[in-house]
Amino acid sequence: MDELLIRGAQIMDGSGAPGTTGDVGIRDGRICAVTTETGRQARRVIDAAGLVLAPGFIDIHTHSDFTLPINPRAEGKIRQGVTTEVVGNCGFSVAPALPGKAELLRDYLAASAPWLDFRETSFAEYMDAFPATSVNTIMQAGHHTLRLMAMGTDDRAPSDDELRHMQDMLEEALQAGAIGLSSGLFTTPGGYASSEEMVTLGHVLRRHGGAYSSHVRDEANRVFDAVREAIAVGESCGIHVQIAHLKLSGTDNWGGASELLGEIEAARERGVAVDCDQYPYTAATNPLRNLLPTWVQAGGMAAMLERLAEPETRQRLRHDIEAQGFNNFGRIASWDDVRIAISPHQPQYAGQTMGAIARERRSDPLDAVCDYLIEDQGHTRILITSMAEDDVQTILRSPTMLVGSDGTSLAPYGVTGQGKPHPRFYGTFARVLGHYVRDLGLLPLPQAIYKMTGGSANALGLVERGLIREGYWADLTLFDPQTIDAMSTYEKPHQYARGIQAVIVNGEVVIDGGEHNGALPGRVLRRGAKGVDDVESGARR
Ligand SMILES: [Zn+2]
Repeated sequence: MDELLIRGAQIMDGSGAPGTTGDVGIRDGRICAVTTETGRQARRVIDAAGLVLAPGFIDIHTHSDFTLPINPRAEGKIRQGVTTEVVGNCGFSVAPALPGKAELLRDYLAASAPWLDFRETSFAEYMDAFPATSVNTIMQAGHHTLRLMAMGTDDRAPSDDELRHMQDMLEEALQAGAIGLSSGLFTTPGGYASSEEMVTLGHVLRRHGGAYSSHVRDEANRVFDAVREAIAVGESCGIHVQIAHLKLSGTDNWGGASELLGEIEAARERGVAVDCDQYPYTAATNPLRNLLPTWVQAGGMAAMLERLAEPETRQRLRHDIEAQGFNNFGRIASWDDVRIAISPHQPQYAGQTMGAIARERRSDPLDAVCDYLIEDQGHTRILITSMAEDDVQTILRSPTMLVGSDGTSLAPYGVTGQGKPHPRFYGTFARVLGHYVRDLGLLPLPQAIYKMTGGSANALGLVERGLIREGYWADLTLFDPQTIDAMSTYEKPHQYARGIQAVIVNGEVVIDGGEHNGALPGRVLRRGAKGVDDVESGARR
């Protein structure tokens, strides 16, 4: 007898194929039957008439390593149907933190992970000590973190010893089961690296079967060069490249999505293994300091705050921004397009725009930004509306694009419920399926599901996940295609998606009748000889 049977669902198997009506049986954590025969017996039956059953969604680009230890129930994500999160993105990872350097990492990641407990750890120890969570987790080593450990925040090339140190740390992470390396060349200190440095690390990835994921060097005025640079690393090392949250930021660059996607398609035709991902919104989120040129951040946070108080610095900033817009975001229409998301030291400003704050203070907007950063000790996070809706839709339709929230798992309660975070954290997957698929008809539902399941599993090299197949792990999401939608907005972000009926992780029900039952069946999935699975962690259990 099956442990669980989902009866009469419209099964969309994650391959992109059209749905078929049938039953799915689950036993010992895996799918044991996919059938149109009626009359199967099970200890529990979920009646799924009128609902779509898909593989559990794989969030290919997240930063939930910052919040899963605080909210292991992963509420904001699993309530969108997410069953696996890839963490350690954009060059940011919580490990390794070498002896005496945990504080350095804490300070560096303060604007992204202000509530996280940082401790000294190797990558292997970090993976082993990762808490039980509701979702599966896949880890990456972050290039910023490796550089910070090897050479601090210095704006220079690494010495031979420092480069070897980074290679060794990467090797240790890969041997522990990390799937690869992420980089975030758009900001410091990773942005001080040359392409050659990334290629050297890419060869380590190649030796261990690892992959490279890239938040490219520039998403605005030099986005084409930046995407070509990421592709070139993959091409010269023979490794998979995941281009993170593909976008064209800045009004000068709007309308270029088809041409940019053409770069990826051309690389694929040359045989390069490359995919991109996207979150379906026109606003980005980042630490406020990252809007400013990298020279202002040299030497770390304390040096930057000291510099921001100087009139000469402000003069030079004003000149740079007038000349080419914001670092990595290009030109925006107005300071009202920059909105405070999270402000640890001045929480009362969450939700207000920099334009409004400058007006309230009767201050020049750039002075207001510099003053604000000083008051908030550099830890402010903002939302910035920098993309065109047409470009977002063009990228969403592309066959190379996979869905990734670029978000952390949050919950409306507890410390992660503070501030006004980006609505993509709660809404990405539901917004694609509701707003873009059902309401706008931008792409067919099975194809959208493929971008969240089979396509992502393929890009990541997951073993026996991402499709509804007999023998595969039972990561499943059951939803109502008529009602699914994101409820999270810029004004009221802390709202769960709607329309998700049930979510099953490794055969265990977590979302049941739309509610979280507290189960924590997620596992850390490790890269092994065959691909990414949980052989090692499973053996330990
Ligand atoms: Zn990123």
